[in-house]
Amino acid sequence: MGARRPTTPPRPFSGPKYDRNSDRAGADMPCAICGKGIRENSQDLCGWAQVVDGGARFARLDETVTQDGGYMGWHPVGPTCARKFPPGYLQTPQEYAKTQGAASVEEGMATPWHVALPPGQALGDTMDSRDVLQRGLRWLDATLQGLLARPRMYGSMEAVELQALLLVEMRVQLRAPSWSEKEPRWVLEQWQQCIQRRYRGVGNSTLANYLSREQGDVGNLYDVLTECLARFAAAVHRSIDPQENS
Ligand SMILES: [Zn+2]
Repeated sequence: MGARRPTTPPRPFSGPKYDRNSDRAGADMPCAICGKGIRENSQDLCGWAQVVDGGARFARLDETVTQDGGYMGWHPVGPTCARKFPPGYLQTPQEYAKTQGAASVEEGMATPWHVALPPGQALGDTMDSRDVLQRGLRWLDATLQGLLARPRMYGSMEAVELQALLLVEMRVQLRAPSWSEKEPRWVLEQWQQCIQRRYRGVGNSTLANYLSREQGDVGNLYDVLTECLARFAAAVHRSIDPQENS
């Protein structure tokens, strides 16, 4: 009666017109074999298959898949191509939706957060209260140095600026907690004043916001930003630890 069921699945992306079809798929998801567009949540979405070994093959559902460099994730399969799979390779859209997380913002909010150390790992020591200050300051200084040395790794100019200011505020909190509690906006106000003295037109905004309106090479603008932040951090450092930096 029906066609014989295949015993091995096709190779991923092996349809002769895969490239052309997937280019035309637009906002739809390309089928893992033929590349034809599959509309999300449509009848055409017949299943999901997991591509491994750098695109060389599909994994069986009962296989333990390692997410190494050759792992290419789950891909949708359309109605014609689904018939080319033997049993044991395609996950149904319903199963897939269950394993791939929440389908809505509400469901996402209702999902409990879970965080765990890697298996076999244990936390070592805790900080002795006498260590907290020294180790805390060392960590803050090293983190600020890393941030200013490789700012682009930390995101946009504004992200870099705000992270640096938070680190400076934390240093003030550790070195001068009473002052910090009495004047919680001191660091930000000092920063505003410093940049307003240097750059006309800067209101109650970030330096990054002002710099981003400048024409010029982005690399240079990052350099200006990190230079200003380094000088500011040093000036704050001097004012709260005058003897240390004389
Ligand atoms: Zn297909």
